[in-house]
Amino acid sequence: MKQFIKKSLLLFVVVLFTATLSAKTPKYIFYCIGDGMSFAHVTMTQLFYEHGNYNDGQESVVFLDFPVHSAVRTHANNSFVTCSAAAGTALATGHKTNLEHIGIGPDKQPLTSIAKQLRDKGYGVGIITSGQINDATPAAFYASQMRNESYLIGKEGADSQFDFLAGSAWKQPLPKDLSQPRLPDYYREKGYTICRGPQAYEAQKGSDKILLLDADTTLTSWLPYYIDRKPGQLGLEFMVQAGIETLYDKKQKKGFFMMIEGASIDHASHPNDLATAIQETIEFNRSVRLAYEFYKKHPNETLIIVTADHETGGLTIGQNSSLVIYPEYVNYQKISKEALSKLISSMRQTGEIDSWEKTKKILAQNTGLWDKIPVNEAEEAQLMQCYYKTIVKKNSEKEITLYSQSEPLAAEAIALFSKKVGVGWTTFSHTGSVVPFYAIGCEADRFKSVNDNTDIPNTIRKVMKIK
Ligand SMILES: [Zn+2]
Repeated sequence: MKQFIKKSLLLFVVVLFTATLSAKTPKYIFYCIGDGMSFAHVTMTQLFYEHGNYNDGQESVVFLDFPVHSAVRTHANNSFVTCSAAAGTALATGHKTNLEHIGIGPDKQPLTSIAKQLRDKGYGVGIITSGQINDATPAAFYASQMRNESYLIGKEGADSQFDFLAGSAWKQPLPKDLSQPRLPDYYREKGYTICRGPQAYEAQKGSDKILLLDADTTLTSWLPYYIDRKPGQLGLEFMVQAGIETLYDKKQKKGFFMMIEGASIDHASHPNDLATAIQETIEFNRSVRLAYEFYKKHPNETLIIVTADHETGGLTIGQNSSLVIYPEYVNYQKISKEALSKLISSMRQTGEIDSWEKTKKILAQNTGLWDKIPVNEAEEAQLMQCYYKTIVKKNSEKEITLYSQSEPLAAEAIALFSKKVGVGWTTFSHTGSVVPFYAIGCEADRFKSVNDNTDIPNTIRKVMKIK
């Protein structure tokens, strides 16, 4: 009997020891948010990788192979369909709030983000976005303001003292009250080295606190779309690489927390620009792949989470009773709808497009319509009618969506492009559908049961033993 008790006790100690060992705390956390990224965006991107003659089929959506999958609800406190401010707040703080509220509850009281809590526990923090550094999603991790207070949000970015901040630019870098400092001055005052573009980062890396922005100092919008970007320009992948390098270097820290936002999946989906949205999802995926490469080097210490704040556009794969999809057509669109619109606008003003044949050639070069994608007579007649109305008769009413105004001809051509690929869109805004969730790495299993966006930071808190 005594022997039995001894053996049982030993077994109990071994089980307890193993349990303690397995309940590890991740040292490195990557929190990747595809703004506006739905299940359909992810699926279309994977279909494009498989059938779009893209890098010989070598690439894939890396997070589709992550072992933990879920779907999360995104609704705001006061709306079934959310916005990036309320959704960002839920993802950063674990609390539902009202639309347009960032890091504050419906009562306007400040909420605490997991990024700040981890900073206070001695972790390095990086906040990275392809949008403006003081737009809603990144802001939810450091600020407590209404969304339209971009200048004040920007100030809170510097106050956060996070180690690495990266984005396109500042939305509203100047104060309304001129006695207040300009944001660039404020960041320098707070100890940040401001690197403008990849070359400046290379020259100044190793600085204590870094703010990495696009080289274009006049920019107040998001980075140029991936599809329009020129070689050497700042992109999300570069920012993530720089962020990993900067944060991993800080040996005095316990580890790091990095938020990575693919902001322009949303910006491209508002105007229902499929190819641009897919290319943005590709860039986001490549950035997640950098985190995955890091995980492979530190598999027992790294946790990667991938999700979205909400779905944008109501993208569906299949439309109008058709089951036929042509993902390879995504290859043929060469510029974004926004760039096509600007091109048509300027050519209209200079009188360069003075015939339907010339117009058709420009559309074909930039979208693949006619050249690579068959267009029937009725479809061409519709585009031609739009040409006569808006270019010949100069009766141009622009299509207005949240972030853009498009030339009607660009809008018609890009809508036809989606139809030809075989996808549908239901809205120029967000939808209330569930969004995807994926995780891999240290303690990823603990995220198996997340089904609401607030569960994600709350589970991170449990894993990191934060009260
Ligand atoms: Zn949006």
